[in-house]
Amino acid sequence: MLEQNRNTRSLKAFLYMGLVGISLVFALTGYGLRLYVESRLSEQAEAQVRALSRHRAQQSLLLSLLDEEVGLRGYLATGDPKLLNTYYQGSREEADAIRNTLDNLDPADEEEATPLVQRIQAMVRAWHEEVADPMVRDRAKGTIANLKAVMEKEKQHFEAIREASESLLRFLDGRDNARLNAVEQSLATARWISIAAMVVVFLAGLLVSRWILRKVADPLVELADAARAGRAFPEPETIESVREVEVLSRALFDLDVRVREREQTLRQDHDEAEAIREFAELVQRIEQEDDLLVAMEQALRRLVRADRVQIFLRPTIGDGLEARIPRLEPEEIDKHRILREAVACRAMQTGHSVSLDTKSPTACICPLGVPAKGSYMCLPLLASGKVMGLVNLQASRSGHFDVALRRISKSCISVAAAALQAIRALNLAKEEALRDGLTGAFNRRFLSEVLAKEIDHAKRGNASLSALMFDIDHFKKFNDTFGHEGGDRVLLAFAHCLRDQVRMGDLVARYGGEEFAVLLPDTTYEVAMNLAERLRRRVEALTLVGPDFPSGCHITTSIGVATYPAHGEDGESLLAAADKALYGAKGSGRNRVVGFCDIGL
Ligand code: GH3
Ligand code: MG
Ligand code: MG
Repeated sequence: MLEQNRNTRSLKAFLYMGLVGISLVFALTGYGLRLYVESRLSEQAEAQVRALSRHRAQQSLLLSLLDEEVGLRGYLATGDPKLLNTYYQGSREEADAIRNTLDNLDPADEEEATPLVQRIQAMVRAWHEEVADPMVRDRAKGTIANLKAVMEKEKQHFEAIREASESLLRFLDGRDNARLNAVEQSLATARWISIAAMVVVFLAGLLVSRWILRKVADPLVELADAARAGRAFPEPETIESVREVEVLSRALFDLDVRVREREQTLRQDHDEAEAIREFAELVQRIEQEDDLLVAMEQALRRLVRADRVQIFLRPTIGDGLEARIPRLEPEEIDKHRILREAVACRAMQTGHSVSLDTKSPTACICPLGVPAKGSYMCLPLLASGKVMGLVNLQASRSGHFDVALRRISKSCISVAAAALQAIRALNLAKEEALRDGLTGAFNRRFLSEVLAKEIDHAKRGNASLSALMFDIDHFKKFNDTFGHEGGDRVLLAFAHCLRDQVRMGDLVARYGGEEFAVLLPDTTYEVAMNLAERLRRRVEALTLVGPDFPSGCHITTSIGVATYPAHGEDGESLLAAADKALYGAKGSGRNRVVGFCDIGL
């Protein structure tokens, strides 16, 4: 079908080319003939103009001769000088007429006609010199005796000149007529030639069209007949140029296909880059690790069209992997070895992605297992050269993860890994800013922030909030005995002891030096007093050992207790009340708990 369309197009192109060619030849022939006829006509017109000028010159010559003769005769007869003027004027005009005749001679006639004109000129001159002028001179002297005889002689001369002049005119007329006849004849010939040329060009056009039809259209008709009759197509007999056009159009078609393919690839790449950019923008706004993992799972399901997405992260301590998406039950965790030994996973080991299609005969060694049907891919979460975890993608279709999907999942995961690292670094920095560098307990600034919030909370919930203030007894002594470093270890051990003993929601802070504070939300004064006593005993029971303390070390602490709202209605006054109670404990002998209610105000 495509082939037939192409042939039809070629046929049309040939027919149009043929028609355009014939029209061009017609136009050129017509234009050439027009030029030829125009040149011939202008020649004819020129010859006519020349003939006319010569006629005029000849006529004026005859008229001036006549004037002269009349003027001369009149003067001779009457002696009137006015008539003499007519004679002189006639001789001037006659000279002009002769010059005009010579100027207007056709170059072809010049050779023959010039001697004739010159002869007339000589005759006129002789007439003047031999007859007219001597007669004028004689008349000026007086009356001429034999005027009649003289006049007769003058008349003969004059007649001879007129005859010569008329014969010259006849000669030139004959020439002009012959020339005009020749021009007319050649015009008639040109007319016939033009008709013949038109006919020849028209016939040639018919032949060319027929030839084109036979070479191009006839095979097509044959093809159509064959198709109608259900016969196999005969090999069409195409002319060389049609074949060339075919080859060219096929090449252009192929090029077009390739360009479209390239355009599609570029569009896919662009969409991919856009999706990754959007994902990168999204993760930049995420502050929590869990939110990031959820966003990552959703993005992978959407962009990579994975049926199952599992995300594992390395815990801060240990060699295993923590299943974060989805969370796994303890018995399931036990089933997977790599969750305990991450190094058993090839992707974790090498830091490169591992992907397998279940069609592949080399079965997967991944302890997470491969889906019974389909394909899967394991990608490590890499940031700053460290493997932070693992992403396992599964699809039910074999060979699902093609090059493009692998590329997009890798980009997605590397963006997520960088974001994860950034979130962790930020959280660490935040944590460090809140904690005391030596003991790991929260610092005083954070204590103030939390205290204000907790007071607010207690106020709204009509609850109580207790504060304990600790001061290690005779701490200076430890510094003196074990050195400053030994003193630091005492502070660290004391802080650990407090943190170990309190509940999750309680807050242990270093208030300054060897003083600590513990905030107990939703805790009444009585409960706080009991807890303080328990803590005092724990500290008392603590034995510090190690190279810094060769003979062991024991510490005691004094504790002050105060409760909101009874002992202080804001954070500052609550801590001041607990501090006051602490001083009460110091004052009454140390290593004891004193509540705000116990001190005398
Ligand atoms: P008291 O029983 O009255 O509380 O006596 P004390 O010696 O514990 O009290 P005092 O306030 O006189 O001394 C506290 C000492 O704690 C003084 C200071 O050198 C020491 N100290 C404060 N901060 C640190 C620290 O970070 N590390 C060490 N090693 N010592 C510290
Ligand atoms: Mg102190
Ligand atoms: Mg002290």
